[in-house]
Amino acid sequence: MLSVEPINAYDDNYIWLITTNEGSIVVDPGESKKIIELIENDTINLRGVLITHHHYDHTNGLLDIIEKKDVEVYGPTNNIQGINNRVRELDKFNLIGINFEVIEIPGHTLDHIAFYSFNNGEPILFCGDTLFAGGCGRVFEGTYEQMFQSLNKISNYPKETKVYCGHEYTLSNLKFALEVDPNNDYLKNEFKNVGNLILSKIPSLPTTLEKELKLNPFLRCNHNVIKNKIIKKFDMIDNELEIFTALRKWKDNF
Ligand SMILES: [Zn+2]
Repeated sequence: MLSVEPINAYDDNYIWLITTNEGSIVVDPGESKKIIELIENDTINLRGVLITHHHYDHTNGLLDIIEKKDVEVYGPTNNIQGINNRVRELDKFNLIGINFEVIEIPGHTLDHIAFYSFNNGEPILFCGDTLFAGGCGRVFEGTYEQMFQSLNKISNYPKETKVYCGHEYTLSNLKFALEVDPNNDYLKNEFKNVGNLILSKIPSLPTTLEKELKLNPFLRCNHNVIKNKIIKKFDMIDNELEIFTALRKWKDNF
């Protein structure tokens, strides 16, 4: 049995707490306070930490946590302090009985990685700030082409994969998606559902790849509606990478 629970951090970050009968892992601890409390009152047996990229809102709690409990920390190969297992594309490891595989997904940052587990046919993916429900991360350090390829890479994993993203951005992402793809009934329906969840303060995550392929414009740049919208709006040629780039820049200013 495996459970994944969100721990809220900052305004809209999620630290994911994964638990099996062998212990717990946290993903992207941008803050430490709540996790240290869980360790101190024996609510969790922390066995490891996963880090997707170097941004402070995903890493700031790490040093305090490992000072409290010296655990395995898996993360990118650059110089983030506190990582004791620096991992690359297709590296594999086992923590709390879960077999993880590392996927390199540069774009948002150059060091960005994701952690995937097939998890006995119930696949899960922790992808930080690369794929979001209804959207994708901003391109800060990498190129648009890297981001485009990283999203394509993720979208080739099994459709039923549950996707755990780093932020609760879903509602504003879907608002933008509706601007791009206004007649998509599946998207309209999801916008309503997520609106109700957010009103009730219920996380909209995880999403699934199946869902994202139906509504996320950043995974759908080759669909006619989206393609034609961008070509017309920005007077462009029909090139999938160019269309993705224009879409991402449009969202930056939306
Ligand atoms: Zn980030």
